[in-house]
Order: sequence, then structure tokens, then C-alpha cells
Amino acid sequence: MGGGNAQKSKMAREKNLEKAKAAGKGSQLEANKKAMSIQCKVCMQTFICTTSEVKCREHAEAKHPKADVYACFPHLKNYKTTFIIPKKVGIVPWRALSERLPTRVALAVRGIDITDTRCLFCGDYEETCDHLFVSCQFTQLVWSIISQWSRAPPTIAFSLKDILDAGILVNGSKKKKMVYNSITQVVIWCVWRMRNEVVFGQTTPSITRVVEESKSMAYHWIKNRSGSSHWSWNEWRSFSIIM
Ligand SMILES: [Zn+2]
Ligand SMILES: [Zn+2]
Repeated sequence: MGGGNAQKSKMAREKNLEKAKAAGKGSQLEANKKAMSIQCKVCMQTFICTTSEVKCREHAEAKHPKADVYACFPHLKNYKTTFIIPKKVGIVPWRALSERLPTRVALAVRGIDITDTRCLFCGDYEETCDHLFVSCQFTQLVWSIISQWSRAPPTIAFSLKDILDAGILVNGSKKKKMVYNSITQVVIWCVWRMRNEVVFGQTTPSITRVVEESKSMAYHWIKNRSGSSHWSWNEWRSFSIIM
């Protein structure tokens, strides 16, 4: 099966290779240069043009913690999420991506005496960021209710990166991307907030509360900061908004 096609594509590859050779040695270098088209404006390090927003943000936070991510990568301004979502909210998902939130496991790794490193929501698994935001049954229920409500395109998420990328990669207008991306970030923030309240004994875990808080906070920020002040709460609740 496919033997003929494989043969054909092999021939095509060889042909292209010959063409490239004929075009001179510089061509491959040129092609490489073109592929490395994203550059950090602070340290001038170059990245391959398919580098995701997540990777850029990781670079900016790791290498230039005092600089704004948009100072390093102005192209990310397309998403304009910082204007929508307050910085204190946006920072949580990006820290979580590289396990830099003070989860019980992270604290234990730092040598802090934690008697129990299990997740406060399910009590079954170690509390890492990946568990807390992706695989915990508590959070999975939150995600499923949120995606049903927002009619998000179905995605299979194995990691937090998959979840964050899904908001950015959704098909449609820039506004639609922004809305989904913002909702995702707000949900992560609300999960983390509830987790902290549970740690300090202020509340017991509630899926409904995380969902309702996520909806109302996302509404508040998106409505006020994205020029969508005409969206009514009822339209938002039924997600019958036009994006
Ligand atoms: Zn840099
Ligand atoms: Zn759990």
C-alpha cells in the first residue's frame, strides 16, 4: 500500500535536493534564516517561526522577568490578552506551565516540610500543576462544563499547554480567539484561587462555584476591556454573543 506514492515522493525529494544544490550553497542558509523569523527584541535571540506563544512567554519570563513580554515579542500583541485579562490573572497559567506555582509538590521539592502532598480536590494524586489543571477529576468537570457552555470546539488535552493552545488556535476572528483564550486563563485562575481557599480552610471544593466565578469574571473583563460593552449578561450566560 502506498508503495507507488512513497516512490514518487522519494523522487520528488531527490529532485528538490538537486535543485537546491544547483541554486548554490547559500540557499539552505537563506532558508534557515527565513525559518528563524521570530526574534526577542531584548536579547536578539532568534526562534523558529512556528514557535508558539507559550514558548515566547516562557522565554520572556525566564530571561527577562522585569520586561514586558510584548517588549520581547511585539507580534504577540495580536492576541492583546493583557489588555483584557489583568496581569495577576494571566501570570497564573504561565507559571503553571513550567510548574512554578507553589503547589504541595513544588513546596516539598523546595524542602518545605509538607506532610501531605496529595491534591486537595480529589485526595488521590500528588498535587502538581499538571494534575491540578489537567488531569484532576474536579478540574476536568470544570473544563467540560465550561466547554459545553462556550460551545468550544472539541479538543483533546494531554497537558496544560494543549489547553492553553486550544484557546489561541480556535478557528475564527481575532476577537473569538481572544474570548476563548481569556476564558481559559480565567478558569485556570479561578481553579487556583479555589485551591488556595481550600488550603486555608475557607471553603470546601465546589465545581459550581469555580464555573460561575469563571463566567462572571471573564464577562466583566471581556465586556469592559475589549469594546464589547453591549454584551448583556444574559447573552453571555447563554453564550449567544456575536464574535
Ligand atoms: Zn530574550
Ligand atoms: Zn486532584
